[in-house]
Formats: sequence, C-alpha cells, structure tokens
Amino acid sequence: MSVDLSPKNIKDLMTRFEQQLKDVRHKEDLELLKRDWVSKEGFVKELFKGLRDVPADEKPTVAALLNELRSTVDDGLEGKERWLRTDALKAQLAQEYIDLSLPEAASGLGSIHPITVVEDRITEILRPFGFQSIMGPEIETDYYCFDSLNIPKHHPARDMQDTFYTETGHVLRTHTTSVQARILQHRALFENGRLPIKVASFGRAYRNEKEDASHCAMFHQYELVWIEPGLTLAHLLGLMTHIIKELYGKRRKVRFVPKFYPYTEPSVGPQIDCSVCRGQGCPSCGGAGWVTVGGSGMVHSKVLEEFKLDPTKVSGFAFGLGTSRLAGQLYNFPHLRSVYDNDLRVLKEIV
Ligand SMILES: [Zn+2]
Repeated sequence: MSVDLSPKNIKDLMTRFEQQLKDVRHKEDLELLKRDWVSKEGFVKELFKGLRDVPADEKPTVAALLNELRSTVDDGLEGKERWLRTDALKAQLAQEYIDLSLPEAASGLGSIHPITVVEDRITEILRPFGFQSIMGPEIETDYYCFDSLNIPKHHPARDMQDTFYTETGHVLRTHTTSVQARILQHRALFENGRLPIKVASFGRAYRNEKEDASHCAMFHQYELVWIEPGLTLAHLLGLMTHIIKELYGKRRKVRFVPKFYPYTEPSVGPQIDCSVCRGQGCPSCGGAGWVTVGGSGMVHSKVLEEFKLDPTKVSGFAFGLGTSRLAGQLYNFPHLRSVYDNDLRVLKEIV
C-alpha cells in the first residue's frame, strides 16, 4: 500500500494529531491515540516504511518532515501522559482531603477497668481503718518472695507457686506477699517504726500456670498486713467478711476453709458463693459452687522473728485477695481470662 508522503499530507497529519491530542481527556483516550500513531501498525511506522519509495532528491525533505512529525507525536503523547498523571493525583488528593480542623465523630467514652474498679472499691472500704497504700516491685529477689517468708529453697511451696525467673536470677513475684516482707523489713518508714503497722498494696503477680477458667499466668492481688499486739484470727475474719460484704452486698455468702501457707499460721482461705452459677457448680468455680478469692492467716512467728519482731509480744495478720477473681465474680465473667482480654463487647456490657 502506498502512502502519501507529500509535504502537505505530512503537515495535515501533524495538524490532525494535534487536534486529536487536544481532545484526549482520559487515560483510555490516550491509549487509543498511541495505538493509532505509534504502535507497530501505527501511522508513523507506515509513513517511515514509505520513505524507501521516495525519489532520492526528495528524500531529505520528506525525512526531515517525518522526523518532525515523529517528534511532535512522541512529545505530545509524553506530555499528555504526564498531564493526565498530575490530573489524576490532583483528583485523588481532592477526594482524600481531610479537614483536620473538623471536630471528630464521637467515639464513645472510655471506662474504668474492672480490676481498677475492685482495687478502688477495696481501698475505699479500708479507708476508715487507716491503711497506708504502697506499691512494691514486680521483679523480686528470692529473699523477699520466698526465703524471708519461711519458704526456704527446696520447700514444696516453691513448687506450688511454679515460677518465672529472669536470666539474672530474679523472680517475677508469685504473690504480693513479697511487699509484706519489705514492709516489715523497712517498718521504720511507717509511723517511725511504731506499731501498729497497717499497710495495703496491690498489683500484678505471676505464676507459670496452665490457663483455665479460673487460672491465669498473670493475675492481680490486693495485699494487706496489720501488725499490732493483741490481734487474733477473729479480727482477720471480721475484716475480711466486712470487705466482701461491702463489695458484693450483705447477702453474699462467705465462708473460710483451712489452708496451708508457710508464712501464716493458722491459714484460711475466704470463699464466696459463685455468682456465675449461683452456687450450683460451673467451670469458673471448678464445679464447687464456691470460689476461693484469696489466702490469709496470722503472720507466722518465723516471719515475725526474721524481721526482729517478738512473736510473744506482737501478732498480726495478712491477706492477699485475688483481685482478678473478685472482679470476675463482681461482673459474672465465666472465664477469668475475660478480665484481661479487654474485649470491648464484654467491657461495654459491664460498665
Ligand atoms: Zn460457679
């Protein structure tokens, strides 16, 4: 097929291309234009193919015009492509524009975590009794966590509290009773060392537990120690019952069962009737209908002696309440894990 390579036709083609280019508005139009002009079958290739049939004396002029056409087409297409890209970016920016000065859509109010609710409420219940609140370290030495509390090395109680150790030989405290040891050792800081000592402390404790409905490897305790001449188990039972009844209401049943702890003698475990099954037995109470919510007892004479207190003159009691379990029972969580999951569906229900 012969092509018209007259200078007029080439110039007309150039004008036609420029007109078509002007009409391009979208990427799709541009692709069509490219196909017509610069593909293998496009006009530009066809025109150059025809160059071999042009008489030699006209060739330079025609070739120069064809080169001009090719430049016009290439430059035009490239320019248009750039323009379309910029245009698309502008459109995208306009679409994604965010006015940071606009007020935020309401996202709902936060609430207080169930464990904090329980800690705050126990602190409030204890306020009239004059307890001082302190915090203790979560990474402890063996001395404060075990040895000073009448749990020497190889004592079976250490196995009962299956333990996490750090590479430096420190222990993640297995109970907040470690704070009690520190309080007794540094009692000069409290009331100038004069009795009574009345201190409360709460926070996290860690045990290498297999997790189930009522056990977590990390849990919260609320520790309390009261040292004063003349204190008896009756004082302990009275205060514990008072706290539980204030927390859950007068109708909540409380009972105490004998327990063994190396650092208290005698030792008792407070139990409340399970709120999840109302005493009928379910996984969260191990089928018993009762939930043990802490451990307590009269401070062991060996512990008093360890801290230079004379057990013939002074007595005291201590207890560690399981705050996570108390919270679980307050809000009827069937699984202790729910206290820590921070699942909004659960938290929204309760607060
Ligand atoms: Zn139950």
